[in-house]
Amino acid sequence: MSLATRWNAAFMSNYATPAIELDHGDGVWVFDTEGNRYLDLLGGIAVSTLGHGHPAVVQAVSRQVAKLAHTSNLYANEPALALAEKLQSLTGQPCKIFLCNDGATANEAAFKLARKHGAGQRTGLVAARGSFHGRTAAALALTGQPSKRAPFEPLPGDVTFVTFGEVDALKTAITPSTSAVFLEPIQGEGGVHPAPQGYLKAARELCDAQGALLVIDEVQTGMGRTGDWFACLAAGVVPDVITLAKGLGAGLPIGAVIAFGRTADLFEPGDHGSTFGGNPISCAAALAVIETIEGTDLLAQVAQVGQYLSESIMGLGHKNIAGVRGLGLLQAIELVGLPSAAVEASARSHGFLLNAVTPDAIRLAPPLIITKLDIDQFVAALPSILQEAIA
Ligand SMILES: *Cc1c(COP(=O)(O)O)cnc(C)c1O
Repeated sequence: MSLATRWNAAFMSNYATPAIELDHGDGVWVFDTEGNRYLDLLGGIAVSTLGHGHPAVVQAVSRQVAKLAHTSNLYANEPALALAEKLQSLTGQPCKIFLCNDGATANEAAFKLARKHGAGQRTGLVAARGSFHGRTAAALALTGQPSKRAPFEPLPGDVTFVTFGEVDALKTAITPSTSAVFLEPIQGEGGVHPAPQGYLKAARELCDAQGALLVIDEVQTGMGRTGDWFACLAAGVVPDVITLAKGLGAGLPIGAVIAFGRTADLFEPGDHGSTFGGNPISCAAALAVIETIEGTDLLAQVAQVGQYLSESIMGLGHKNIAGVRGLGLLQAIELVGLPSAAVEASARSHGFLLNAVTPDAIRLAPPLIITKLDIDQFVAALPSILQEAIA
């Protein structure tokens, strides 16, 4: 039976039917069940920061699963404690941590922090058009993509959407009844749109002026993806909350909420929880990720290789490429005259996995360990990929 037949018979229809089934991975490479090899330029959507089968992650996870797989949050476990302490030290700011399972549950917790901050008085929320914060009810309510929200309305929250990047729009939207403003440093799912210089700083000032929390969703941009641990802190902005997930566990499910200053003390006993949040296996993986990034000076490499990637693509001077946008190893190729879905399919047949994030943009979010030589292979193949996407 074909993959499509089995898939469609077994799974609900919320996802598109995949073209290939992956079997195993090795570094920046993945292999499908038919034996084809692909250079992974998407990293499981900005997740597989250390590529596939990284020895540090394999060892940490294997040891931990043999030692203790689960404790519940009734008991402490050392990997979770060590991870929380590590995240605190990475921010260099007074903060406390809540551990959860993914990006949506991180933003769900941030939504509840906003509610606590509002204390029943401030109930307004501000988010950006084109944003993505997850698929659970509160995270979806904050997601500025009407097509994703519409079938599920009414959603919780009194959310005002503003045009991303416009300070004046924020100024109008943030009022004394605003409890929190949710923003991404780079809108990832929205098509890899970086916030303009100074935008997050302006948001910080406007939130301070009105007493609203600033929540920065770094689920996609965090943990080294942009060449820094946190894109907002690198931009000189200390928010009230940072949410993390995707790259944090290098493939193991984990999310984190970092609350700064007084926001760190908003939750009281019983206010929030998660059965699997702080799971020792995922935490052991996240610790291995952070230690590996630190030990191999990977942040500096991400900045360099990311710049090399965009310059190499622009260096082609190709008529179907209008530009490259993004930061570090979160980049989008802006297409002209070619649908991105055709480019994604053509790339796959050439042995490259990438993502048609919007109809005219291709997202690249490879493992952070990708090298200039790997990128050279992709850039050399790109003209033929585009050529065959036309045909
Ligand atoms: C992917 C993503 C989410 C949702 O994360 P899940 O793990 O899929 O729930 C939230 N915010 C941003 C910015 C994301 O990129």
